[in-house]
Amino acid sequence: MNAESTGAAAQLPLSDDQRELLRQVFIDAFSERDDSDVPGCEDCAAAAGPLCTAHGADLDQADRYHELGIALGLFPAGPLIGTSARRRHGVLR
Ligand SMILES: [Zn+2]
Repeated sequence: MNAESTGAAAQLPLSDDQRELLRQVFIDAFSERDDSDVPGCEDCAAAAGPLCTAHGADLDQADRYHELGIALGLFPAGPLIGTSARRRHGVLR
C-alpha cells in the first residue's frame, strides 16, 4: 500500500526552511486569489450567479491550491480558502 492509497500526505524532500518557504508561496498565491473585491465588483453585481465568472474562478483556483497544499502536508486539513472566502462574503453556493 503506497501513500496515495492510504491518503497520507506526500513527503517532500525539503529542509524545514524550504518547507516554510513553500508554505509562504502557497499563502501568497491564496492572497492573489481570495483577497479581491468579491462580491463588490460590477460584474459580480450583474452576474446571474453569486459571483462573476472571474471571481468564481479565482475562488475555485484558491480551493485547488489549498487542496494541493494539504496533500503535500504543508497545511492541516480544514475549510478551504476559496470556500471560506465565499462564506465570508455571503456568496456560498
Ligand atoms: Zn466579480
